[in-house]
Amino acid sequence: MIIRMSTLLARTLRDAPADAVTDSHRLLVRAAHVRRVASGVWSWLPLGKSVLDNVTRIVREEMAAIGDQEVLLPALAPVAAYEASGRADDYGDLLFRLADRRGARFVLGPTHEELFADLARDQLVSGRQLPLGLFQVQTKYRDEARPRSGVLRSREFLMKDAYTFDADEAGLRASYAAHREAYIRVFARLGLAARPVAALSGPMGGSESEEFLAPAAAGEDRYAECGSCGLAANTETVVGEDAGLAEKEAVGERPCPRCGAAALRIGRAIEVGHIFRLGTKYSDLIGLEVAGADGRPVRVQMGCYGIGISRAVAALAEQTCDSAGLCWPDAVAPAAVHLVAAGGGERARAAEELAGRLDRAGVRVLLDDRPGLGTGARLADAELIGVPRIAVVGRRAAEGVAELRDRRTGVSADAAFDALPGLVGAADANTRQSEVG
Ligand SMILES: [Zn+2]
Repeated sequence: MIIRMSTLLARTLRDAPADAVTDSHRLLVRAAHVRRVASGVWSWLPLGKSVLDNVTRIVREEMAAIGDQEVLLPALAPVAAYEASGRADDYGDLLFRLADRRGARFVLGPTHEELFADLARDQLVSGRQLPLGLFQVQTKYRDEARPRSGVLRSREFLMKDAYTFDADEAGLRASYAAHREAYIRVFARLGLAARPVAALSGPMGGSESEEFLAPAAAGEDRYAECGSCGLAANTETVVGEDAGLAEKEAVGERPCPRCGAAALRIGRAIEVGHIFRLGTKYSDLIGLEVAGADGRPVRVQMGCYGIGISRAVAALAEQTCDSAGLCWPDAVAPAAVHLVAAGGGERARAAEELAGRLDRAGVRVLLDDRPGLGTGARLADAELIGVPRIAVVGRRAAEGVAELRDRRTGVSADAAFDALPGLVGAADANTRQSEVG
């Protein structure tokens, strides 16, 4: 596929929004990946949508690989379900509420435990149908008091939420472990450094949960990691043991509240995933039961598992960007190579021909074919947009040689047009292969 900059809806900006304080906010806007519609509400433009879709696809593949089935429940949900569970109160003003023309009250769902429990009660008859794992990729809503940092903390966002149903606690532990492993694979494939740490469960309820935190200076969560005893937790979970950790700005090294070693490192991070063993909290509420092996009713054990997909895009931007712009990992990049002609005439024609060759070899190409733009401006945009490789067709175009530059390292080398599909395609194919495998 050749994406042409001349027709692509991607007007890059020299200046960042005045209110942007994080790199991902600044760069995703400047690189024409997202555009603000209202406070905490964003449009995804073609380049950003491509990254978002790539993240979504990897998440979907890993959920399917552990046997979860995809469904789609409504974002518009009757408020009664959330009132019955007590979460309408727990969420308070974070919940978007609305009424229809007849006065029936609804919410725009923040997560869907209630509706999934209800679906399971409707569909499940026998314990032989368990374990069951369901997931959806859906737009979610939270009426944040201070939406900020672009798509990192927005009021409308894309999320993958999964729910598991088991006949007993051992089953729930197995389902939880399978999702935990799947999440580790998801983040590894995305190229996002994120690790599970102990967490407080918050309004989701349940007895035990872990967050997947992606270290980043822009993060609003803080995690504590002990090099001696292995403690890894959101600092919220250990403030009871060390009041000093409650100070919002406390980062760096301090004594570990568990083992006492002076090896506790505090860092900032972005929460990109959260997994919960809910137990029977929701099953108890609505009487979700199945017939057990002996025919007697068994209360169903639930787990729930979320990945913030739009937030993962922002977290990836935070972890990989540099002073010149975005720097996407292969697995999520909108193209495998960004092709730039350093000049018009023969060089532009050579770039066009090279784009065709790459396309025929199955390589995803972003071609800067915009008329009347200087080479400096093209290269600045290429660095801003952050496709992993930039191929410059310049002074050696007539010999059929381009300069291939690695966006992340800046290392460049001349490469023959003949060799480029192989050089670029190999990396691109590796990405795709792991998607299938
Ligand atoms: Zn320790």
